[in-house]
Amino acid sequence: MLSNYHTHTPRCNHAEGAERDYAEEALAAGLEILGFSDHTPQFFPGDYYSFFRMRPEQLDDYVAAVLAVREAYRGRLEVPLGLETEYYPALFPRLLEALRARPIDYLILGQHALGNELDDVYSGTPTDDAATLHRYVDQVCEAMRTGLFSCFAHPDILPFGGDEALWQAEMRRLCETARACQVPLEINLLGLAEGRCYPNEAFWRIAGAAGCTAVLGCDAHRPAQLRVPALEARARAMAARCGVPVQQTLALKPIL
Ligand SMILES: [Zn+2]
Ligand SMILES: [Zn+2]
Repeated sequence: MLSNYHTHTPRCNHAEGAERDYAEEALAAGLEILGFSDHTPQFFPGDYYSFFRMRPEQLDDYVAAVLAVREAYRGRLEVPLGLETEYYPALFPRLLEALRARPIDYLILGQHALGNELDDVYSGTPTDDAATLHRYVDQVCEAMRTGLFSCFAHPDILPFGGDEALWQAEMRRLCETARACQVPLEINLLGLAEGRCYPNEAFWRIAGAAGCTAVLGCDAHRPAQLRVPALEARARAMAARCGVPVQQTLALKPIL
């Protein structure tokens, strides 16, 4: 791998390691680009607390920390500043307002919950409910059509146990939208390492048939997860079996 754009920091409450530790590990792994994309803050109403992301008041510290690493490693490592972001329709305008006021280079779509999170379910909850599957696909397609997301992390996060033909049709709809919006889909190496329901090879066969492209994402929650040659080889073999080309780098879409 020459690049990884999916890297967390301890601000999300479930990652560990200083930004510089990630940078050192990235250099040792031979990466040329290390993008940070910690779980974005969301501006929830009231006192709802989302435990797996930084709070809004931590955003400036995150920006400063990543820019400091960029300076310290200039000439050795490119360090774009990103965020892994859900598309929550009711909260998105307020989020964009905050992000546009800061030098954020890119957004990764990571749809961890449906609806606006506080009133809905985790996307990785196993379900056989057709309406839930349909809502997930509607929501991520709407997200991709904003033109603001540079890639889509673990698009295959939703474990569907219902009608197989329906699942295939919905995944085809997702993949065709990704292709039309030129959003690369991420093969998530953390999911592969931990034997999660993603990456799901059946999904990637649909992605290949739809003409999608992929990017490999470490989804690093600790520095050692940036140096994973065996996982990379498995992911590339799967992509090849499914006919999905893997991009080495991302074209970063500005947050206009
Ligand atoms: Zn995470
Ligand atoms: Zn992540």
